[in-house]
Parts: sequence; structure tokens; C-alpha cells
Amino acid sequence: MGRIHELSDILADQIAAGEVVERPASVVKELVENALDAHSSQIDIYVEEAGLKSIQVIDNGEGISQADVLIAFRRHATSKITDRADLFKVKTLGFRGEALPSIASVSHVSLETSTQAESAGSLVEIKGGELIKQQPSSARNGTKITVTDLFFNTPARLKYLSSRATELANISDIVNRLALSHTDVAFSLVSDGKTIFKTAGNGNLKQAVSAIYGLTSARQMIEFSGADADFAVSGLISLPKLTRAARSYISLLINGRYIKNFRISKAVVAGYGSKLMVGRYPLAVVNIKLDPLLVDVNVHPTKQEVRISKEEQLEFLLTKAVSQALSQENLIPNGLENL
Ligand code: ADP
Ligand code: MG
Repeated sequence: MGRIHELSDILADQIAAGEVVERPASVVKELVENALDAHSSQIDIYVEEAGLKSIQVIDNGEGISQADVLIAFRRHATSKITDRADLFKVKTLGFRGEALPSIASVSHVSLETSTQAESAGSLVEIKGGELIKQQPSSARNGTKITVTDLFFNTPARLKYLSSRATELANISDIVNRLALSHTDVAFSLVSDGKTIFKTAGNGNLKQAVSAIYGLTSARQMIEFSGADADFAVSGLISLPKLTRAARSYISLLINGRYIKNFRISKAVVAGYGSKLMVGRYPLAVVNIKLDPLLVDVNVHPTKQEVRISKEEQLEFLLTKAVSQALSQENLIPNGLENL
């Protein structure tokens, strides 16, 4: 007998969870991304004790059919891609089929979901990867997923978490970016019964920025845009008088996906030339549209890191677009009347 054997599904899911579910904010990100992929127009997020007691995401999207509801919790099971070619033109936020099984392997998940086509919905509960309840539920449109006891069976992960305040800040930060990247969706984030923010979902980026960063900040931001043969960039950037001490207030959104990229953020800052003080950074929401073939999102399980072809060309375009918008700022009214 050899010594090598395949790991059980539950153990394999827990190993994957190590990468996908780092902290409560990762759970929120994955659940909200699923709600967005399901074409929801309203997404309400409730957290208790910074997500450690519970995380609940309620959407009004397409829902999951009764036949699919348990398959959704299997590793690498997804409705979003089918073949190799799809992997190179991913248009959804998810595609790896890892989030639900990973989350369910390290917490207690209760999922209530129904589709428009079926007369009844489903209620399933899974704890530590084991199915503990499955029954029909009354139909409502969309999905409600509740995650409690996060990391109950991975004590080391639980210990590694930061203070409640920091974990809540992480949750708030990720929901902010998701709301900024989908201004046509009405978001609300409620923490321990208190509404942290709410967006209207009317497609107006400036109003979404105002809901998240406040009206005073929104009033000090101007539009920018630019395009070349491969990329179209647009969004809002702050006037040089509105700055922060960290680069992280620059939200980069590639085809609606929030990503982190030091060089692209730097290209935005470069557009300010000498207008910023050393160590100060602008607030910005930068929408980048490109052919999905030009971006590889399959770099890391959390998909926040991507590889972009022709990245230097994109950086050049962004710096130029930002710099042009700032140089025109003194000449034209900035269109804030309608806020
Ligand atoms: P992925 O998002 O990569 O496909 P997940 O594990 O996050 O993998 O979800 C598995 C599947 O469950 C999705 O492909 C989707 O079909 C379904 N699903 C998950 N959440 C929702 C939701 N909120 N609304 C509708 N379908 C969902
Ligand atoms: Mg997903």
C-alpha cells in the first residue's frame, strides 16, 4: 500500500478556505460578489460584532434553483464559466466556484434562495462542510445567506484576527469599493443595527461617492475621462486640496472588478504632477474598461490582483486623462449643481 491518499472534500475545502476566507471581510466580499453576479439591483448587508457573530447578505437577484442548491456548495462548481475559452474572457466577478464551499467549511451557513421560475425555494444549512438541514422554503425573489460561527473549527485563524474595529473597517472598506464599482445597485451596510451607509443605486457615481465619503468630499471631486484603441478610463478624482495620507483611497475598478495595483495607482497620482504635497494622495474612483482578453484575473484566489496586457499604455493614458481634467478645472464649472 502506498502512503499517498486524496484528502477528504471537507479538508480540501478547508485548505482552500485558508486562501479565500482570510477574515470576515473576505466572506462579505465573496457573498456580495455572488449577489452582483446574480444581477441583483438591491443588496443589503448586515453584520454583527464585525462579522464574527454573523454576516448576512440579502439580494433580489436570480436565486439558485432547487436542483442546484447543493451543487453550489461543491468545490469548483460554478454556473459562470464552462470551458477553457471562458477563462480568458471572464465577465463575472466569480468563476472559480470556491467561495461557498470554502465559507461553509469554516462556519455555519444558512442559505435561503428561490428563482422566479420555481414555485418554491430552498433552505439549506451547512456547518463545517456537513449538511445539517435541507427543506423547501417559501418563495421570495433572490437569496438570503447568513454566516455565523465563522472560524469555529479553525482556532488559529480566529486568533489571528485583528480588533473588532479593524475587522469592521475592513468590511466597510470592501463594501465601499463594491458599491462604487456598481453604482446601479442599491447597497446598504448595517453593523450591529446601525446603518453605516446606503447608496441609491441610481447609477450616479458622484452620489455614491457622497454616500460613502460624504458630501463635502464629493463636492471636491471632478470627472475625468480618456480613451485609446485598447482602454477607456473615466471616473472621479479629487481636487489637489482634498487628499489623504494613504494611496488606498484610489479605487481601481477594471470592468467592474475592484483590484489592487500599485503601478496603476501611481499613474493616477502622477497625473497630479507637483500639485500634491509629499506623502499626500488623492481620493479617486477609476473605472477602466477593456476587452476581457487583455486582463488575466486568474492570478490569485481572491482575484484582487490581476495581470493586464499593455499596462504601460494604460498607465500613460490614465496619467494624461487625470492631468487634463485637473488643468481644465479652473476653466469650467464642475457640474456639482445637481448634487
Ligand atoms: P463562483 O461565484 O465562483 O461561481 P461560488 O462558490 O461563490 O462560486 O458560488 C457557486 C455558485 O452558486 C455560483 O456560480 C452561482 O451559480 C450560485 N450562487 C451563489 N450565490 C448566489 C446568489 N447570491 N444568487 C444566485 N446564485 C448564487
Ligand atoms: Mg462567488
